[in-house]
Amino acid sequence: MLGHSQVNYSLEAARERLKTSRRVTFFGGAGVSTASGIPDFRSATGLYNQMTGSRYSPETMLSHNFFVHHPDEFYAFLRSSLYYPDAKPNAAHYVLAQMEEKEKLNAVITQNIDGLHQQAGSKVVYELHGSLKRFYCMRCHRAYQAERVYSQETTPYCEVCGGLVRPDVVLYVEPLDPDVLNASISAVRKADCMIVGGSSLVVYPAAGLLDYFRGDCLILINREPTPYDSQADFVFHGDIGEVLTQISCDL
Ligand code: NAD
Repeated sequence: MLGHSQVNYSLEAARERLKTSRRVTFFGGAGVSTASGIPDFRSATGLYNQMTGSRYSPETMLSHNFFVHHPDEFYAFLRSSLYYPDAKPNAAHYVLAQMEEKEKLNAVITQNIDGLHQQAGSKVVYELHGSLKRFYCMRCHRAYQAERVYSQETTPYCEVCGGLVRPDVVLYVEPLDPDVLNASISAVRKADCMIVGGSSLVVYPAAGLLDYFRGDCLILINREPTPYDSQADFVFHGDIGEVLTQISCDL
């Protein structure tokens, strides 16, 4: 339950606590994939602080309106700055997949759109912001293979109805998929331990998921402080792959 607390910074204590937890839920963001070579959005080396070579900001280009009115620029941005075909899962993804295999972890909830948790072997993955691995026609909803979309250099249009083909991601101002959100809330409510990592926790409604946690062990792992640090039982300002590896080694 949020809203206490005495924050603990001991890896050993977190490891012991994790051992006695029975149902862990993980909630993560872009920081989970930086070690795989995919930049996050908001840290110093993140996409929002990089030059995009466009007169539009990344926030603007990732909005619904921009996509609909400037699909060519959107796809150019997607190909140059968001699509990492060679990225491989890193230690954080693999530790979480192992925790699920050991029946310690009930779900990975992610804000990431890169599909790396599934690539590492995680089975129950709730993608709050969708996935860049899936595409569909906005008009007739026909699904398109990502490889096919990425293999062409022009904006994709549906071969059946001519509608604009879009990635199955949640753009700014679009609502989250209610089924994914509800499944995520349900997993968080059932968890006795929640590990949150690699997220600035400023994107809502995703960050609001923490408010549903009713367990007694909240572990926050992020390079930089987050607005939720004071409400956590354990806080680690370090690399998520390293911290997860250390606190899960006895499970
Ligand atoms: P964010 O960029 O706002 O925050 C990322 C946080 O992770 C930062 O606070 C940073 O300090 C921390 N971080 C970076 N590398 C880390 C590491 N190795 N270990 C620990 N912490 C690390 O990202 P967010 O909170 O996920 O929210 C923003 C949006 O970014 C989401 O909507 C998501 O869809 C999108 N996004 C996704 C990807 C991806 O799919 N890989 C990449 C960039 C952005």
